[in-house]
Amino acid sequence: MHVTEILDRATEPLISYEIIPPRRGGTVEQVLAVVEELMPFEPPFIDVTSHSAEAIYEEQPDGTWKRRVMRKRPGTLGLCAAIKGRFGVETVPHLLCNGFTREETEDALIELNYLGIHNVLALRGDDHGFQKPVSPDRSRNRYAAELVQQIAAMNRGEFLDDLVDAAPTNFCIGVAGYPEKHFEAPNLAWDILNLKRKVDAGAHFITTQMFFDNRRYFEFVERCRDVGIDVPILPGLKILTSKRQLQLLPSRFFIDIPEPLAAEVEAARPEHVVDIGVEWAIRQCEELMAANVPSVHFYIMQTASVVKQVVAALRKMA
Ligand code: FAD
Repeated sequence: MHVTEILDRATEPLISYEIIPPRRGGTVEQVLAVVEELMPFEPPFIDVTSHSAEAIYEEQPDGTWKRRVMRKRPGTLGLCAAIKGRFGVETVPHLLCNGFTREETEDALIELNYLGIHNVLALRGDDHGFQKPVSPDRSRNRYAAELVQQIAAMNRGEFLDDLVDAAPTNFCIGVAGYPEKHFEAPNLAWDILNLKRKVDAGAHFITTQMFFDNRRYFEFVERCRDVGIDVPILPGLKILTSKRQLQLLPSRFFIDIPEPLAAEVEAARPEHVVDIGVEWAIRQCEELMAANVPSVHFYIMQTASVVKQVVAALRKMA
């Protein structure tokens, strides 16, 4: 089922999840165990992130540095198929522009189509010090809007080559939105116009970057609606679990941690930070759900234990 159909049919507030594949050499069982823990809470769909190859620098015994290129977390498509096959839960694989040619993207979409996975999140990806060289007979998408165009074309039966009688695919396409602005955009208005380009290219829903202040989300949705973006906008949430994240999350995701939350975490003993993060997330969820958001989307990475506390508390309150 498409994410948009799931959202349309929902009779109660939904909570969806985003997980990451294991590191190269890890086992799929590690991640399936996390999904198993979520199953009592009936996840409507689960996103699986994608990771392009990156440059890694290793110091050698003689003091010089060796550059290696490695894709640390492959397996997005296989993991999506494994989750859907074992648990019957819809999955949303992330697809990136960076690190993949358009030809490879078409092949990945054909694999997904055959696997019966008909939702994707289309993203540009970040620069990790390595850009895959593209030969003259290959091409690549530079921005997410171009990737959306490619997927939307396949949904009309238009593949990269002129194929006779090509069967159209049927992908529901999500894209990323940034309530606190994408770090490269000169201002929020500019960034929202980029988001509009992605929706005009064929995106059906938007999932936001994490935020800790609901006002940022509500203002963002209002501004999106003002420019004619009318697709569902799913709020992305993360539960703060360590003092280190006070610096880590803003530096990595270009987001603010509200003063009261930062002050409470700063003053707390390290073992109490999780409780503060859980309590904050519960309050965020209550307010978002009261405002009838389409689905609260939790970035949980590779552990379900903390989000389970939030979801269990919300169920008790319902
Ligand atoms: P785009 O929409 O392409 O925008 C990127 C920047 O380029 C913006 O600043 C935009 O304003 C600008 N821009 C767009 N078009 C043009 C143009 N034509 N000319 C000039 N400027 C332009 N990363 C991963 O590697 N793997 C993941 O699985 C992943 N999942 C994510 C999930 C969510 C919900 C979110 C919010 C982010 C995720 N990311 C992931 C991070 C994402 O890849 C980065 O934030 C990336 O920097 C931007 O991706 P985008 O799709 O928003 O890019």
